[in-house]
Amino acid sequence: MRDEFTSKTREILFKRAGARCANPNCRKPTFAAHKDINKFISIGVAAHITAAEIGGPRYDPSMTSKERKSADNGIWLCQDHAKLIDSDELKYTVDIIKEWRTLSEKAALFDLEQISASTDKDITEDKKIIRFFSQCFDRPAFQDEFMQEGSIEAFDKAIEDTIIAINVGCLRDRNGDILFQSYGKSYLSNHEWRAKMDSIVDILRAIRSRYQLAIKLGQLHIGSEYEGKQFYNFYDHELAKWFDETRGQAIYLFSTICVEAGISKLVFPRKRKSKYN
Ligand SMILES: [Zn+2]
Repeated sequence: MRDEFTSKTREILFKRAGARCANPNCRKPTFAAHKDINKFISIGVAAHITAAEIGGPRYDPSMTSKERKSADNGIWLCQDHAKLIDSDELKYTVDIIKEWRTLSEKAALFDLEQISASTDKDITEDKKIIRFFSQCFDRPAFQDEFMQEGSIEAFDKAIEDTIIAINVGCLRDRNGDILFQSYGKSYLSNHEWRAKMDSIVDILRAIRSRYQLAIKLGQLHIGSEYEGKQFYNFYDHELAKWFDETRGQAIYLFSTICVEAGISKLVFPRKRKSKYN
């Protein structure tokens, strides 16, 4: 028998997540208005962290039925990410899912604090957040051109970490330790900057999707990893150019915010010494 959540537990889960998908990489709203004034649309799912029944993903036989039904064993996700965590239980472990939940609950709380405190929050706070984002972009994945047989940090992971940092305001290193702690983009009181950060996240998501597709299609070959460095070999030079230009767009957009905030802007690609001299 499945240990389903009660409607009360579901409510607790979505409200704690701020009614958004609790994947920090997503944070998509999960509710909206239906055309019928008495209805609403929901694309949210109260997902079990350890499965509701034997044989399901991450099923833990040591848990009681009550524990399995508890809010502590649940996470609010959009339909896509509820499906994702159940399609690869080796990758999406209990620890990782609980980490998602913690980060998203924190982000939801920040959103709420922002609403109640917005009147006396000023540009100084926004600048601090922009400075934090600037630190997040200050890495090879955003500064070095893809060149044949060039070496760069693990690219996809770097982009993913940056999206999470922009969404929830927490940047971690490869060991999961916190490098910088600030606020996510929804905390910005400048609406234009917030809209630009939304666009930047959309661009970064597009880069990740294209990257994953390129590997599937064999347009990109990744060499062996050494201390977080990888070698990239593009078999499609137009595609390499697309990556460079698209990253350039994200950096350009961010730089326009930096200029307005009066902090030093980022440049892509970073000037580097030619390997021939
Ligand atoms: Zn999602």
